[in-house]
Order: sequence, then structure tokens, then C-alpha cells
Amino acid sequence: MTAADTLSAAPALDALTRIDTTRIFVGGAWRAPDGGRTLPVEDPSTGRVIGAIGQGTAADVDAAVAAAQGALAGDWGALTATDRGRILTLMAARVEARAEDLALIETLDVGKPLDQSRRDSAALARYLEFYGGAADKLMGTTIPYQPGYAVYTLREPHGVCGIIIPWNYPMQILGRAVAAALAAGNAVVLKPAEDASLSALVFAQIAAEAGLPAGALNVVTGLGAEVGAALSAHPGVHHLSFTGSVATGAAIQRSAAAHVVPLTLELGGKSPQIVFDDADLDRAVPVLVTSCLQNAGQTCSAASRVLVQRGVYDAVRARMAAIYDGLVAGPARDSRDLGPLVSARQRRLVQGFIDRGQAELAVAGQGRIHPDADPAGHFVRPTLFAEVPPDHDLAQQEIFGPVQVLMPFDDEAHALRLANGTDYGLVAGVWTRDGGRQLRMAAALDCGQVFVNNYGAGGGVELPFGGTGRSGHGREKGFEALYGFTRVKTVAIHHG
Ligand code: NAP
Ligand code: MG
Repeated sequence: MTAADTLSAAPALDALTRIDTTRIFVGGAWRAPDGGRTLPVEDPSTGRVIGAIGQGTAADVDAAVAAAQGALAGDWGALTATDRGRILTLMAARVEARAEDLALIETLDVGKPLDQSRRDSAALARYLEFYGGAADKLMGTTIPYQPGYAVYTLREPHGVCGIIIPWNYPMQILGRAVAAALAAGNAVVLKPAEDASLSALVFAQIAAEAGLPAGALNVVTGLGAEVGAALSAHPGVHHLSFTGSVATGAAIQRSAAAHVVPLTLELGGKSPQIVFDDADLDRAVPVLVTSCLQNAGQTCSAASRVLVQRGVYDAVRARMAAIYDGLVAGPARDSRDLGPLVSARQRRLVQGFIDRGQAELAVAGQGRIHPDADPAGHFVRPTLFAEVPPDHDLAQQEIFGPVQVLMPFDDEAHALRLANGTDYGLVAGVWTRDGGRQLRMAAALDCGQVFVNNYGAGGGVELPFGGTGRSGHGREKGFEALYGFTRVKTVAIHHG
């Protein structure tokens, strides 16, 4: 099917969302934001405005925090963990029933190829299913102590959680944060990214239909500097969870510090793939490429550096280059290898890195932009650079686009120096058949996740995820996220 065919076959945005997206969701009701302003919604594949969202204000954040506090003091706070889990499970079923709508909405809103958006709506349902099942399996401990005492711990919700998410995986990131926060008994104020708010709004409607009590989840759309800043500085918020850039994360940590509010930060990365001479290259090479290029490289865990031992360097370079030369970027609905970048701003930033690389480095392979692609869409050509010096900006800075750098290494120690030689520490991939080396590398890599002979473990809702260094702190996903969304109270009873 051509792009024109797929575009004409898809329903209009209004029919997909089934809500007025210029409204915000506060206290279980849809309302116009304070001041009644809106922001445009753009389709990155065409650069055209396709809708609008509400531009919330600090007053809307006040109202949302008050609604969340009300929910904790009311119906939501009174539910048992089992009943919270049941509601999340109902939400999972409703997300599944709307999965195709959600995927199409995301594809229109952020330019994500439709097959990848489908994986995101499936992941959202899976997070709700996982945390729905986990809600009543979260428990404290009893502690052997001195004679005459009974000591136990309680895991209590923080209270109101402020959750600020980016545009790159809106459904996955809201799923992992909102589902875990609600399962643990918190109430949530969610601020989605300005460039990707539609799926969060539809999700709020789905949650309400599934019976989530009013005020347990509030969604305030708008600008980061306005709504995000108001939420992160709000004295009524008890915990913050942020995914996005280092600069914004640091600003949020500073404003959280004013009220001594704990927070989880999931920031960027410059994650390495480390390929040893004994690696199974047939298995490794396709993963080396997709682990960076999924979502056009706009992924915190994108494997943007490929470190290859000298014995197989030329072979890996040649095989990766052949893949790159065949890559096609095209309209998101066509599910080509990659879609456009999310915005003109992101395209400018990434194109700047590509231009600089072309001037200063060796281009090993480069894909093309499909002729069907709208010239006003935010497309770039995926590009592989080779023999990149480890201190070059392209080897150090998070590009957040379809750009990978290749570097050779001599031995394990050299590989570790390169792998650990950035400010980030999110993910590392290790490709080797040597069992001892697998364990040594896993121990010595300075990062939050190590994947051996795979990358990403298929998404892994159950697997804790987070960073070291500038990649952030705290863990999302799995049971670790539930621990993060609770505080521990120790109770010691002297009974004699
Ligand atoms: P960003 O500024 O960090 O935005 C992330 C979220 O924070 C959005 O909801 C944003 O709202 C909000 N925000 C912005 N300024 C804020 C403030 N002062 N206080 C509170 N919240 C605020 O990221 P971006 O500008 O969209 O992307 C820039 C770079 O961040 C990317 O190039 C990439 O390197 C990195 N990034 C990393 C991840 C990740 O998964 N780790 C995800 C996205 C981006 P608005 O959207 O309304 O501005
Ligand atoms: Mg958009």
C-alpha cells in the first residue's frame, strides 16, 4: 500500500480519540484548562497540524493535586489492594480493546511506525496486567528483634505522585509509572509531553470507564516550563517520577529538593554494544542495528555506540553498513524501518550531528528517505559512522536519532574503558560465547542493565530498569518500581 492509501484508509483523529483533546482530566471530569488556551498537535510525518490539546496552567496543577488528595482521603484511598488490582486489570482489558486506536493515535501524534506503536499499546496493557496482579502481593517484613518486641514494616503509598513523561514512548512510560503508582495505592497527576499528549488523554478516559475512582488519575496537558514546573515545585506532591533529558531532570531534582520530595529520574544514555571476537555475528548484527534504530533512535536505551574487537571489526562494519545502505525512512503509517523524528526541533538537532559526522568522520553506511515521504515531515537519513574517536562528540553525546558510531577495541580491559567512558550508565549489550567473560563484564560495567547475547530482553515489563551516573537514579518496572512508589514504616511493639 502506498502512503496515500494507508492515510485515506485510517479514521480521522476525532473518531480515534473519541474525546475532546483540548480538555484536561481533573477529579474524574473533563474540563477546559484555566484560561482556555490550546496548543497544536502536529503529525511529524507531514508537518501538518491535525488537532489541539489544552494548555494547562499552574492553577490546573493546583486543582489536580487537590483532586488527587481528595481521592486518597475518599473512595480510592479506601480500596483494598486487591480491589485496586482488579481495577488495573479491567483497565488492561479496555486498553487491549482499544489497542489499535491507541496505536494509530500514537503514530499520528509522534510519527512512530505503526508496527512499533502497536507494540507500545500492547506494552501498556501488559503493564496494567502486571501491576494489577502485583497490587496485593506487595508486603512488608517481620524482623527478629530483642525479646519482648514484635517488629514489622509496612509499605505505604507516598500519597500524591507527580509523573512527567517524554514523547518518545508515551504509552510505555505512562504504563510503567502510572500503573505501578496506582497499584501501590498512590494518586497520580500526570503531565504528558507537549508533543505526545493524545494517548495519555485517551488512557484517562479508558481508566474512568474501567471504574478508576475520580481523582486517582489526573492528566494536565501543557508546556513543561508551565505545567511540569508547577507540578515539580508543588508542596502537595509527595513523590516525583520523571523520564526525559538530563537538563530537565536536574531542574526537577532542584525543585523537588525545596520540599525534600523523593524522586525517580530516568534520563538519557549513550549505551554501548560490545562485540567480542567469539560472538555469534549472525545473531548479533541485526540486533546491533535495531537496538539503536527502533523509534528512529529516539530511545533512552538506544545502543548508539558499537564497540567491536579488532578480529571481527571489519566483518561487523561491513555487515552493519550493508544493513544501513538498505534502510528506508518513511511515513509512520507505512511501518518502514523508521519514521520521522518527533519534531522540527529534534530533526534540526539530529541533522546537525549527522552533518558534523559527515564533515569529520568516516561514513560507513547510510539509509535513504522514501520518495513517498512528505518533504515537510521530519525525516533524516539513518547513518553509521566508523572508527570514531572515543572522545568525539558523536561518541559522547546522546543524539536521540538514527545515528550509530563504531569503534574498535583490543581486549576486555580496553572494551570496559570505552564502555564506561561516558557520563551515562543506562544499558550495555555484551556479545560473547565465553561464560567467564560474560560474568566479568556484567560485574564491571557501570550501568543499570546488562544484556548478554541479546539487547532489551524483549521489553521485559517484569525487569527493573534505570540508570547510573547521568542516566538517573531509582528504578522503574518490575517489583522495584512498586518499592519506589512506596515508603517503609517500621512498627516496633513492646509486649513484654
Ligand atoms: P525534556 O525537556 O526533558 O521533556 C520531558 C518532559 O519534561 C516533557 O513532559 C516536558 O514537557 C517536561 N518538561 C520540560 N521542561 C520542564 C520543566 N522545566 N519542569 C518540568 N517539566 C518539564 O525532553 P525534550 O525536550 O522533549 O527532549 C530533549 C532531549 O531529552 C532529547 O533530545 C533526549 O536527549 C532527551 N530525552 C530522553 C528521554 C528518555 O527516555 N530518557 C526521553 C525524551 C527525551 P514539554 O514536552 O511540554 O516540554
Ligand atoms: Mg505530535
